[in-house]
Amino acid sequence: MGENGIQATSEKRDSKIVMQKSSVDEFSHLALDIGGSLIKLVYLSSNNNCAADDEEGKSPPKEDLGVPNDDINCPVLGGKLHFAKFETTKINDCLEFILSKQLHRHGNWHQEAVFNDKNIIKATGGGAYKFADLFKEKLGVNLDKVDEMNCLVAGSNFLLKAVHPEAFSYMDGKEEDVQIDHNDLYPYLLVNIGSGVSMIKVDGNGKFERVSGTSVGGGTFWGLGRLLTKCKSFDELLELSHCGNNRVIDMLVGDIYGGMDYSKIGLTSTTIACSFGKAISENKELEDYRPEDISRSLLRMISNNIGQISYLNALRFGLKRIFFGGFFIRGHAYTMDTIAVAVNFWSKGEAKAMFLRHEGFLGALGAFVSYENHGLDDLKAN
Ligand code: ADP
Repeated sequence: MGENGIQATSEKRDSKIVMQKSSVDEFSHLALDIGGSLIKLVYLSSNNNCAADDEEGKSPPKEDLGVPNDDINCPVLGGKLHFAKFETTKINDCLEFILSKQLHRHGNWHQEAVFNDKNIIKATGGGAYKFADLFKEKLGVNLDKVDEMNCLVAGSNFLLKAVHPEAFSYMDGKEEDVQIDHNDLYPYLLVNIGSGVSMIKVDGNGKFERVSGTSVGGGTFWGLGRLLTKCKSFDELLELSHCGNNRVIDMLVGDIYGGMDYSKIGLTSTTIACSFGKAISENKELEDYRPEDISRSLLRMISNNIGQISYLNALRFGLKRIFFGGFFIRGHAYTMDTIAVAVNFWSKGEAKAMFLRHEGFLGALGAFVSYENHGLDDLKAN
């Protein structure tokens, strides 16, 4: 591994790095993942001077980047990988951002690189189809569509092999880095929690099967949450959940058993018997509940459910490791804790939930590594 966690490179690649030296930021190899909720961008800058990022009006607002300080130094590419995201409904902001940095024009540091010549940008997600004409019209570029599942897997494998520390476990408020043994990575279950949820059994690079999924995902949390709380943004809804108490709305085992555990089948009095269950028995309207409690209950319900379905799929195939990605997670402690506890509880400690620091960018990274001649072929080899 190189000093920044990227695998050592061949001589040929080192010579590329020399070619790429530049006194000003140059950008190359923009790749996109245009999803149902968010557009994710990954691009490379030729040096570590990121002054351009801070220019007024040229970047998405910092709080909207979601994952601060998540740039990846990439000596093998002679630069730094940058990440940005925009809401899909604000696609014009994204186009402006690309234009302001001229991300669509730079791509020819490597003599062999072809994408600039053909005005091609690698793109994945449904929006690569839906918005192809818009990109052609506004930026004069063709979106070269890359398969979404392929990209999720390629992005996840890239991160797990090339970036350290990338994976971590989360339990009782404590984050712990996970060491990845490259020779013992597969098989694993990748659970991508975006608007919807995909569960993919990964056996190698390009070797995978989408074994399950659920439509109750991040989009459900945001959509239902917006209706129930009138929150104006996802971050606001997530923030609310910090100070909420789900027990106000959820029906617990203790509520049914007069404060007692149902210990015979291993249920404590605080186990949720029915999410939102108290709302049926009380003479209350929506306005009588605090948005904080609603958000907390909703987050708990969805995270629990995904954790449980994930575990059941891991069990189907005898997988011990489950990596969770997708922008629903947002490095949010309560979300990760709920998922980790669900996996731990249902598997009786046999399976482990792990999270990724660049959780939301798996698809975009997968599209990025699908460019030819970018120097990352070693990482794609197996
Ligand atoms: P997709 O590719 O389906 O858009 P993502 O991995 O980008 O999937 O995750 C989208 C989900 O991330 C949303 O449904 C929501 O739960 C969550 N999310 C995180 N940050 C935001 C945000 N700023 N705006 C909207 N949704 C967000």
